[in-house]
Amino acid sequence: MIPAAFAYDRASTVDEALSLLMEHGADAKLIAGGQSLLPLMKLRLARPDRLIDIGRIESLRGVRSLPDGRLGIGALTTYAQLLDNASVMGLALMADALPRIADVQVRNRGTIGGAIAHADPAADMPAVLLALEAEVVARSAHRGERTIPIGEFFDGAFSTALAADELLTEIRVPAPSGPYGSAYRMLEQPASGFAIAGVAAVIGRTGSGNGDADAVDDVRVAVTGVGDHPYRATAVESALRGSRLGSAAIGSTVASICDGITVQSDIHADRAYRSAMAVVMAKRALEAARERLFE
Ligand SMILES: Cc1cc2nc3c(=O)[nH]c(=O)nc-3n(C[C@H](O)[C@H](O)[C@H](O)COP(=O)(O)OP(=O)(O)OC[C@H]3O[C@@H](n4cnc5c(N)ncnc54)[C@H](O)[C@@H]3O)c2cc1C
Repeated sequence: MIPAAFAYDRASTVDEALSLLMEHGADAKLIAGGQSLLPLMKLRLARPDRLIDIGRIESLRGVRSLPDGRLGIGALTTYAQLLDNASVMGLALMADALPRIADVQVRNRGTIGGAIAHADPAADMPAVLLALEAEVVARSAHRGERTIPIGEFFDGAFSTALAADELLTEIRVPAPSGPYGSAYRMLEQPASGFAIAGVAAVIGRTGSGNGDADAVDDVRVAVTGVGDHPYRATAVESALRGSRLGSAAIGSTVASICDGITVQSDIHADRAYRSAMAVVMAKRALEAARERLFE
């Protein structure tokens, strides 16, 4: 349980981290809170030659309000800091998900940027951020800054659109517009807390619907723990868009929550059980979101 030998650099600014990344290329790995990377290194599933520690770059920590009304969450903001932030906790999806993630020690060290960059297929924040239609900001020394819609960010198990020389700096989170309700419901694996199946739902009435004042025209359903990466259940979304989201409509459409997905199977949940739990969690999330919309 001792990591292989590695060189260590501590960056005190984003520019310093980026130039170290450029200098050492694929041999180097960024480390933030270390909660995912260090266990992998101890098991020797990861053996980077060099760690670039970004954990003390203060400019990457904290939550700010952007001029367009979105929240800008610095990549190094820890779960504990998110839990302490009223604007973040004002988003019901965040308030549902954050207190359930891991334990106090992990929440004190683990960062939102690390969680997103690590892209564990069963992590909670990816589904929440997919349903909120967040945007990821990445920087590299060569190409400068770019933004990546979260829907284009996760592309496989532990794989993202980030290039090897890029640092994730910020996550931009819009609050849904108009009256909306949202909820995150998950079945957790009892030992780790990771999702066997987790569903984040956002429903809203933007007024652009079919003339029925009670119909929902914004429906977003994001799923984690089920496929090899988090995804939007577009079949469920389009079937429910324009409906009043009655229990019968929800019940009949959530059956397609795993459509087009290769459902994962492991010692905690086989394919059939995981699929069944995804249906249950989707129903619960949509019903809770509906209650919050109409309460
Ligand atoms: C006991 C335990 C229980 C857990 N339970 C849960 C749970 O219930 N739900 C859940 O969702 N998660 C859970 N986690 C995972 C936890 O959320 C992550 O470990 C943590 O958020 C990762 O953040 P970090 O800062 O520690 O990342 P690190 O471990 O430092 O880094 C992880 C990866 O991201 C990369 N990286 C980090 N920051 C950046 C950046 N700014 N730009 C580019 N790349 C970067 C690193 O190079 C590395 O590849 C658990 C972890 C543990 C140890």
